[in-house]
Amino acid sequence: MPPGDAGSGYYPARVIVDLDAIRANVRRLAQAAPSAAVMAVVKADGYGHGLLPVAGAALEAGAGWLGTAQLDGAFALRAAGHEVPVLAWMYAPGAPFAAAIGARIDLSVPAPWAMTEVIDAAREAGRPARVHLKVDTGLGRGGSFLEPWTELLHAALAAEQRGEVQVVGVWSHLARADEPGHPGVHAQIEVFDEALRRADAAGARLEVRHLANSAATLALPEAHYDLVRPGLSIYGLSPFTHRSATELGLRPAMRLEADLALVKAAPAGQGVSYGHTYTTTRDTVLGVVPIGYGDGVPRHGSNVAPVQVAGRRHTIAGRVCMDQFVLDLGPEGARLAAGERAVLFGAGDHNEPTARDWADAVGTIDYEIVTRIGSRIPRIHVGSPDGATDPGGNAVSGVPATVEVALPDQEATEALGRRLAGLLRAGDLVVLTGDLGAGKTTLTRGIGAGLEVRGPIASPTFIIARVHPSLIGGPDLVHVDAYRLESLDEVDALDLDTSLADSVTVVEWGEGVVESLSEDRLEVSLDRPRGTGIDPGAPDPGRVARLRGTGARWDGIDLAGTGVAVERVGEQAAASDDVR
Ligand SMILES: *Cc1c(COP(=O)(O)O)cnc(C)c1O
Repeated sequence: MPPGDAGSGYYPARVIVDLDAIRANVRRLAQAAPSAAVMAVVKADGYGHGLLPVAGAALEAGAGWLGTAQLDGAFALRAAGHEVPVLAWMYAPGAPFAAAIGARIDLSVPAPWAMTEVIDAAREAGRPARVHLKVDTGLGRGGSFLEPWTELLHAALAAEQRGEVQVVGVWSHLARADEPGHPGVHAQIEVFDEALRRADAAGARLEVRHLANSAATLALPEAHYDLVRPGLSIYGLSPFTHRSATELGLRPAMRLEADLALVKAAPAGQGVSYGHTYTTTRDTVLGVVPIGYGDGVPRHGSNVAPVQVAGRRHTIAGRVCMDQFVLDLGPEGARLAAGERAVLFGAGDHNEPTARDWADAVGTIDYEIVTRIGSRIPRIHVGSPDGATDPGGNAVSGVPATVEVALPDQEATEALGRRLAGLLRAGDLVVLTGDLGAGKTTLTRGIGAGLEVRGPIASPTFIIARVHPSLIGGPDLVHVDAYRLESLDEVDALDLDTSLADSVTVVEWGEGVVESLSEDRLEVSLDRPRGTGIDPGAPDPGRVARLRGTGARWDGIDLAGTGVAVERVGEQAAASDDVR
């Protein structure tokens, strides 16, 4: 959790990241480059989407490599247990190369100073460094221009002879891949081919040659080589000015939304926000959105950027402040109240603004819009690993099938239970799955605390069912151990002091029994985070709760938007990562 927000776990805004969209986008890119492997570029915290969940989703969809600019992202991927090749390319003298080599992180080598430090570090680490020699084919940024590069190549191959490095790759980056017909693109490809010829002549045995970013992956097959490196497009955004994400078969994965903090009537002629750069022209209703440039909402969005509330688009009224900005909701805003959801940008369904709309409004690119959204806004990751279609067949368009909540410790598990209680009402059924010690009883304790029922709540093993009467005249809690149960009818047959219709029923260990239970149920599975559990010496990665509602009771209820999921998946692994 970012400093300053520690403890509350509450924020009046959220970034919802659709991992199904990420998976679909990665598959789409793999299709576009059938002869190449895919390196999912997850630099800058996965372009602001959350490094670990995005990396996990990209790997599930078939990416074979991960790429980060900064070394810290690469270390975090290793700490989370990802074993695939990871390339990092941004560092300065004095970087922890030996640790990187020890973690089997592939290093880009752009210059002789880096080669020297990497070789020294390989000796220290006692194993060869895996390097990708970067040639500047014309971007005029990282890497060596061709002539000095050839010297770098020979130095690297000499070190390879000595067993100090393994020259895994030769690579470069394009300046204008988003302008596929531009002569500069082909000039760069020619220089790259020349670099490859020199590497070949010098005896390099390369594993991968790579040049293509998103734009080249989608539109420049001659730049695919062995490996493509899409970034922006895996998040569902288009790298081209004149082609939309939809036209490219991509779906934006990020939605940024906030809850209105205030809705109030204002007279005509009222100046709005600092400097009064906006003035109401009629009697109207103003809405205050409780995030601002401190959260990465561009201040340049003042008076130009779009925000959707209750299906209608509005342009920001007046200046964006540090923690808030204002919308003029018009007289129709009178039917709205504080708490109404404002969508700054999303996938673009139902006239929702997109990150591209924001970029166009403020004069930047959508890369910057999504990446700059501050880390204090919680990331909520939704989607089911099995793909976009919900096997239960209950998916409602726009409502994600599964919501994930990170549970670093018992307090977080109990807090989730308390938040869940806010959604539950008489007759509801909650099914908990997870192995022994996963926190099912802890979660139930939180639900009991939230419902205000009589405790104490203990593991139900061997008692079949225990009733916890409400202390406040609300629903009772029936806590069931389903381990040896065939169906819930057996519970009703127990002649408890309450009926299930008047209670919230929590069933532990529902696996296998679930099918015979009511259609309407909230399923909560408590699992280890994906990609963890490989290293027995690693710190406890905690758990991830996966929430999914089925049946008419939960139809259309967007769990991510209910305030249940305020913890961020992936946060805990990063926080406990002492390598960084
Ligand atoms: C960011 C980056 C990519 C990905 O670029 P996109 O345009 O986001 O696809 C690929 N390679 C390098 C070196 C990068 O820095």
